[in-house]
Amino acid sequence: MEDKKLALVTGGSRGIGRSVCVELARAGYNIIINYKSNTAAAQETLGLVHEAGGDGESVQFDVADAPAVHDAIDGLLKKYKTIHVLVNNAGIAADTLFAMMPQKDWQSVIQTSLDGFFNVTKPVLTSMLRVKKGCSVVTISSVSGITGNRGQTNYSAAKAGLIGASKALAQEVARLGIRINVVAPGLIETEMIKSAPREIILKLIPMGRVGMPEEVAKVVRFLCSDDASYITGQVISVNGGMV
Ligand code: NDP
Repeated sequence: MEDKKLALVTGGSRGIGRSVCVELARAGYNIIINYKSNTAAAQETLGLVHEAGGDGESVQFDVADAPAVHDAIDGLLKKYKTIHVLVNNAGIAADTLFAMMPQKDWQSVIQTSLDGFFNVTKPVLTSMLRVKKGCSVVTISSVSGITGNRGQTNYSAAKAGLIGASKALAQEVARLGIRINVVAPGLIETEMIKSAPREIILKLIPMGRVGMPEEVAKVVRFLCSDDASYITGQVISVNGGMV
C-alpha cells in the first residue's frame, strides 16, 4: 500500500463504521476494515474506500474474542508496523427490561463493547507509542451511555464504560501526544435501529429526524485530524439535540 497513514475501523462493514471508513479514506488514510461475519458487506465497504481514493483490506475477527484479536492485530502490525488511527466502533444491542434480561444478553453486549475496547486498543496503542504524534483513538459510545435508557441497562453500562475507559486512557497518554476521544451518537439510520418504532423515537429528538451515518463519520474524521490537536479525553455528542 502507498505510504499513507493507516486507520483501523472495527465494525467497518456496515452502518456508522462503513461511513467512517469512507470518510477517513477521503481524508487520505488507508483503511483496515474489521467485521465479525458479513464478508460481503466488508467487501462492499472496501470498494467504497477505493472509490474514495484509499487503499486497504478487510479483516475478519470478533473484537470480543481475545485470542482472535491478538492474532489478527499481530498479523496487521507485522505487515504495516503502525496503525495511526483506531476507531472502536463495533457494538451490538440486545434490548430488554432488566428484570427479563438473560445473562447472555448482558454478557454479549458488555463483552463486545468493553472487552472489545481492551482487546483491540491495547496492542494498537503499543504500536502508536512508536510514532506518538498524530496518533489517535476514537471510540463510539452512545447517548444511552450518557443518560441511560430504559430497556438498555446492558447497552448503557457498556457505553458508559467506554466513556470512563477513554477518559482514563486519555490522561495516561496525553503527554505522549496520543489523543483519545469518544463520539456519542443519538439515533442514527442503520440496521441497529430498524426495529425501533419511528413515531416514538422521533419524539425524543429535538431536530425531529434521525441522524445519518455520515454525520457521525465527519465528527470522527475531525477528531482524528490535526484540526483537533488540542482535544483529548472528550465526549462529543452527535444526536440532534437530545438531552
Ligand atoms: P450496525 O449494526 O449497522 O453495524 C455493526 C457493525 O459492527 C457491523 O460492521 C458488524 O459486523 C460489527 N460488529 C458487531 N459485533 C462485532 C464484533 N463482535 N466484532 C467485530 N465487529 C462486530 O451498527 P451501527 O452502525 O448502528 O453502530 C455502530 C456503533 O455505533 C455501535 O457501537 C453502536 O452501538 C453505536 N451507536 C449506534 C447508534 C445508532 O442509532 N445506530 C446510536 C449510538 C451508538 P458484521 O457486518 O460482520 O456483522
